[in-house]
Amino acid sequence: MSILPHVAVGASVGYFTSNIPEAIGGGYISHLVLDFLPHWDPNVRDKNMPRWRKILYIILFLIDLSLGLGLLWLLRSDPNMMVGGFVGAFTDLDNFLHLSQKIGIKTHVTGSGWQTQVGVVYGLSSQCIVTLLALYFLYVRAL
Ligand SMILES: [Zn+2]
Repeated sequence: MSILPHVAVGASVGYFTSNIPEAIGGGYISHLVLDFLPHWDPNVRDKNMPRWRKILYIILFLIDLSLGLGLLWLLRSDPNMMVGGFVGAFTDLDNFLHLSQKIGIKTHVTGSGWQTQVGVVYGLSSQCIVTLLALYFLYVRAL
């Protein structure tokens, strides 16, 4: 899944934790659960991708990253939610390490089979639903 749903759900899980180690564990578990839900991620490993699509993916990534970091900033007064959201999203850093250095968590990295990828319409819809539910929860309960 993309960054914003991971931050929103990780922060929501962090709301229910009482210390930082729990928030780290909760954020990490929330990441794995979201990756297992059917979703769509752009195939960034496609070597034959047209230039316009590569640029579009970069723009979408930057928007997603900005929204995720903005949400973390909004949650800055609650360390558990902030840590849960941060770990929830940035667990994906091992994907980048795995692509370049072959370092990563075996059950999580791209190609491990853990990710449940589906078509773009269904896959983005599921991400939107998860994101909106988590944002609604954060708005009502936490912000
Ligand atoms: Zn992931």
